[in-house]
Amino acid sequence: MRQKIVAGNWKMNTKPSEGVQLVKNLKSLQIAEDVKLIIAPPFTHLALVKAELTDSNIGLASQNLSKENFGAYTGEIAAEMLKELSVNYAIIGHSERRLYYGETDDIVAAKVLKALATDIKPIVCVGENLEERTSGNFLAIIKKQIEAALFGLSKDAIKHVVVAYEPVWAIGTGKTASPEQAQEVHAFIRSLLVEKFGKDLASDISILYGGSCKPSNAKELFEKEDIDGGLIGGAALKAEDFAAIANSFGA
Ligand code: PEP
Repeated sequence: MRQKIVAGNWKMNTKPSEGVQLVKNLKSLQIAEDVKLIIAPPFTHLALVKAELTDSNIGLASQNLSKENFGAYTGEIAAEMLKELSVNYAIIGHSERRLYYGETDDIVAAKVLKALATDIKPIVCVGENLEERTSGNFLAIIKKQIEAALFGLSKDAIKHVVVAYEPVWAIGTGKTASPEQAQEVHAFIRSLLVEKFGKDLASDISILYGGSCKPSNAKELFEKEDIDGGLIGGAALKAEDFAAIANSFGA
């Protein structure tokens, strides 16, 4: 059985003290027991947020990690550093990293391997931009991204991966993919995973939708067969909205 997951990507938002307050607010809200909640605050917040999460089931994610080991890489964060802070998930290959920081499919693949080697579960983001969507070429783009990031993994390793489909044209734009558009891509991703890793393993991999997901549209997205939750940006910055999204399964 695959896990229902709602993960919040805070991006470069909130001061550390505000992040701690956001976690306190979140902890005070009721979340359905069968939903795994994950938050991905900025690196500067991780130690403080970790302390705040000691009595909670909320998972802690980083928004990125280095593909390198410790060493002379100014400004980078090694997976081992994150692991010591109880970070157990990492968002990898977010479209903002791909677009603004030149992360190629090869870099994404290396980061996925590094995360897994450190016992950190990667939340691997894929998604097409507007031009790729309108040209009708989007499934080929998704296939290329999935193959590059995941097809080098063993059957043992793939079990620890979460996939996030995030159409770039829907991120932070207020334009959400329709449930049908999202389901088409989610089912396609799952079919690629079935082909490569077999039906049993592929059926257990959570595939999250991301892109202007909010309390008003989460339910219809999460009702779709292959949509196992969400990677949430803007709406993750308000505890009530984030909790409402997490409580949208079967609501
Ligand atoms: C994201 O950046 O991962 C995201 C889904 O953002 P938003 O929800 O704000 O569109």
